Amino acid sequence: MLMLQSKLFTKTRREDPKDEQAKNAKLLIRAGFINKEMAGAYDLLPLGLRVVEKIKSIVREEMEKLGSQEILMTSIQRKDVWEKTGRWSDEVVDVWFKSALQVGGEVGFGWSHEEPIGDMMRNYILSFRDLPFSVYQFQTKLRNEVRAKSGIMRGREFMMKDMYSFSLGKEDHDRFYAAAIEAYNKVFARVGIGADTFVTFAAGGAFTKFSHEFQTITEAGEDAIYLNREKNIAINEEVLNDETLASLGVKREDLEKVSTAEVGNVFNFGTEKGEALGLFFKDQSGESIPVWMGSYGIGITRLMGVLVEKFSDEKGIIWPKSVAPFDAHIIVIGGMDSEAMIAANKLTETLEARGVEILLDDREASAGEKFSDADLFGIPTRIVISPKTLEEGKLEVKDRATGEVKKISEEELVSLF
Ligand code: ATP
Ligand code: MG
Repeated sequence: MLMLQSKLFTKTRREDPKDEQAKNAKLLIRAGFINKEMAGAYDLLPLGLRVVEKIKSIVREEMEKLGSQEILMTSIQRKDVWEKTGRWSDEVVDVWFKSALQVGGEVGFGWSHEEPIGDMMRNYILSFRDLPFSVYQFQTKLRNEVRAKSGIMRGREFMMKDMYSFSLGKEDHDRFYAAAIEAYNKVFARVGIGADTFVTFAAGGAFTKFSHEFQTITEAGEDAIYLNREKNIAINEEVLNDETLASLGVKREDLEKVSTAEVGNVFNFGTEKGEALGLFFKDQSGESIPVWMGSYGIGITRLMGVLVEKFSDEKGIIWPKSVAPFDAHIIVIGGMDSEAMIAANKLTETLEARGVEILLDDREASAGEKFSDADLFGIPTRIVISPKTLEEGKLEVKDRATGEVKKISEEELVSLF
């Protein structure tokens, strides 16, 4: 896959946008990955969209391995469904965006899909034969957040992966819940934050004392957790009390407080949702039993923001290889029909054949401008082809993460991919 930078729809900026406090949004806007519409609402430009799609692919792979199937629900939601669980009220849920139909009647815009999916499943779950299963989606969620100051980490509109499990009972549910935690750990490891992401005891969960959040250490996070790295125990400050400490067998003084961002969470509803929504199945003896439900979220766009917060320097973004918009950034120093461009085209063909995704800087711009844009974009491998490198018969290759610059042969370069 090859993209010519002269054709790429984007624009970099030297100055930080004035109306942004968050590093993730400042850098993503300066690097031309996103555009700001208003606080908490951003447009994804080609580079930003490519990163989001890479993250989605990783998440999709891990959800499919769990046996979950992808669906896509509507964002327009019924009032009567949310009334069944008492969550239509603005006093209970303070992030609702709502509107009225012209023909009469109120609708809500999906801030979550827990109730609508429970209601929907009344059409698809009739007997024990229909269970267990899970489905997931990548959905735009709309939330009327009061404070939207963390860039794409707290959007009023954002992309979430939400998955829902439907089980016969506790044992069945627990098995899937444990597998989902494993799958989430894999996702966070694959996007490069495995070492800094902790399964954290948090509030909520029916018939269980806790829900589990996936909290990633970052100064930009809005949460705080108490962590024991040795024992791999993390507790959200919202549930830090004597009872929690005793039940987990840790002492307050053995925990360090760190600031974190919640990148995902898993939640056990037990039979509560099923009962409230009227979601029952007939067991073997014909008895009506409430379906056991679980809910599992990952903040896709928040995750992208967290990656920028964690992986950047004064020059720009440093994408982990697994989610970078391109694998290689080839910088040509020389005009359209220079020797350097001819050599770059040849190299591109070789790399493309190996499945390498390439951004080729073919613009009529100064070397300095090209280099600083490359640092800002943060593509893992930068390759320079100039009259000088041609003369030396080597390529100049820079690793964006380490900053290391090497002169290597084309064969050596190709073997890197
Ligand atoms: P928070 O406490 O940060 O508001 P939440 O508890 O409301 O999060 P959930 O409703 O469980 O979050 O949503 C699932 C995931 O979606 C979260 O773990 C988080 O990664 C992401 N998320 C939640 N709210 C936002 C938002 N406003 N912008 C971007 N991502 C979000
Ligand atoms: Mg919230």
